[in-house]
Amino acid sequence: MSMYEDECVICKQTTLGVTGWDDVIIGRQLVLAPWEGEGETIEGNLHFACVQSWSHKDAFFNELAAAYTGAPDATITLRDRHSGELTSVPRPTSESYEPVCTGPGLLILAQPEEKRWTAIDADWGWIRLDHREAARIAADDRSPVEGGFARLSLDRDLPLEATEWSVGELLDHLDLEPRYPGLRTTPGVSMELYFKAPEKSRHAVRLALDVPLLVPDRVRAYFMQLLADEGPDAFKLVLPD
Ligand SMILES: [Zn+2]
Repeated sequence: MSMYEDECVICKQTTLGVTGWDDVIIGRQLVLAPWEGEGETIEGNLHFACVQSWSHKDAFFNELAAAYTGAPDATITLRDRHSGELTSVPRPTSESYEPVCTGPGLLILAQPEEKRWTAIDADWGWIRLDHREAARIAADDRSPVEGGFARLSLDRDLPLEATEWSVGELLDHLDLEPRYPGLRTTPGVSMELYFKAPEKSRHAVRLALDVPLLVPDRVRAYFMQLLADEGPDAFKLVLPD
């Protein structure tokens, strides 16, 4: 673990947790990182902008897709962090996901029972959607979605007036503009920032960003077609009795 848990694996700068611009790979997804050596995995936050210019981009997206589909191998080799020994384990998530749309660099997976989807677009990044979010995309609803407050540990202190800042001012102060291209000019984006304890620390903040759900056109097209084919029921969650 690095000093700042909110930092990007690639550039080591802060990630703000903005849907469509960054996301986290969690350890139990077991996404392999063959560029790090046999049996290694990748875990942590990633700016999509960093992934796009990364030398391991193609290998990363192949492994991310493989973690969801289980292909080509349902069993993978992992290196034990302590002993260094290699062991074979089954992929954890492959059974619950069903590929529903594929194309060059595109994979959309569904969990039909839970009405959840994951879309991976190698020219962009990836997104995990619940039934409400998928319905918004199908309806081409680009109004901002409430982000909810996330606790972030920034890599530097902010001035007290940061609670009044716009997203653009925050990106400028943190030198993050290149990591979040287009975020400041996206219509409807708004930000609320609070210090956890400003008298003690001005880099521990609670940050909420309301951002529209923006996805690549071909991802949006899949959900619009699903709505056209199956109607609103495609996005209705049926709870078990
Ligand atoms: Zn980065």
